Formats: sequence, structure tokens, C-alpha cells
Amino acid sequence: MTPPMTPPMTPPLPLPVLEADCSRCFGLCCVLLPFRASDGFGADKPGGQACGHLQADDRCGIHRDLVGSGWPGCAAYDCRGAGQQVSQVTYGGVSWRDQGNLAEMAAVLSVVRVLHGLLERLAGLDGRGVSALRDRIIVATAGSPEELLLLDLDDLEEDVAAAAA
Ligand code: SF4
Repeated sequence: MTPPMTPPMTPPLPLPVLEADCSRCFGLCCVLLPFRASDGFGADKPGGQACGHLQADDRCGIHRDLVGSGWPGCAAYDCRGAGQQVSQVTYGGVSWRDQGNLAEMAAVLSVVRVLHGLLERLAGLDGRGVSALRDRIIVATAGSPEELLLLDLDDLEEDVAAAAA
């Protein structure tokens, strides 16, 4: 008699990079996010408007001395790798400069940053339930803008909190 077949092991889905890689980002935080001078940014800026220090190559003109220049908020901000994920995966390498809907892009950036934060919280945890939850979140990070904006983040956050408890 032929022995029963063992189901093939499904390899874990690759984790997105959870650290900022500005070289693969279009300076999204410098454009899409609103900020205030009173919060450690050198000027007030609405979301969807490029910071005056952002150069044409999407690099920061004062990056070497953000704190000394009066922009400690930028030095402290951590996109958790959402910038390059949204730039290269969600929008397939199309810059904000060529997008018609920066409000959508800003919302997507915020959602992906939350998802990356949830993946960070699952780091170091194991177990079948954790793996399935991690895979669910990884799949979500690769969604289209519409799919990302329709995610139930509260539901995912509850599941992560339960897994980490
Ligand atoms: S100061 Fe530099 S890092 Fe901060 S928002 Fe402006 S361009 Fe971006």
C-alpha cells in the first residue's frame, strides 16, 4: 500500500523590510504628511505639499543636520519601511509627482505604516496562529490602494494584541 502523502510545507511569505530605505522612496513623508513647527518641524505644512527642503531628486537638502537646522521631528520620524513599500510596491515605482490623488497616497502610506508596526509587534513570536496572522498581514501589505484603504485595521490590531498577550 502506498503511504499517505505528507502535505507540502508552505514556505513563509517574505517579510517586507520594516526599516526605512529612503533610497527607494520618493520622499513620501516629506510630501504627503502634514506637520507643525510646534511639533519639532521647522515650518507648518499641510499634507500633500512638498516640504521646501525636498530636492528634485526626492532627497532632503538638510538631511545632514536636521536637528541643528530646527527639524528634529524629521530625525525622529520612522516610517517603518512604509515609504519604500508604498513607492515601489503599492504604486509600482510611480512617484507622487505623477499621481493625481495625493490624498489617497497619504492614506495608503498611513495604513502601510500601521501594518508594518503590527509586523514589528509579531517579531519574535511564533506558533501556528502567529504565522497565519503574520502571513495575513504580509498579504495585506501587498494590496492595491483600494484594498489597503478598505482593510479593517481595528480587527488586525485586536488579533495582534491577542497573539502578543
Ligand atoms: S526637512 Fe528634509 S526630511 Fe524633513 S520634511 Fe523637509 S525634506 Fe523631508
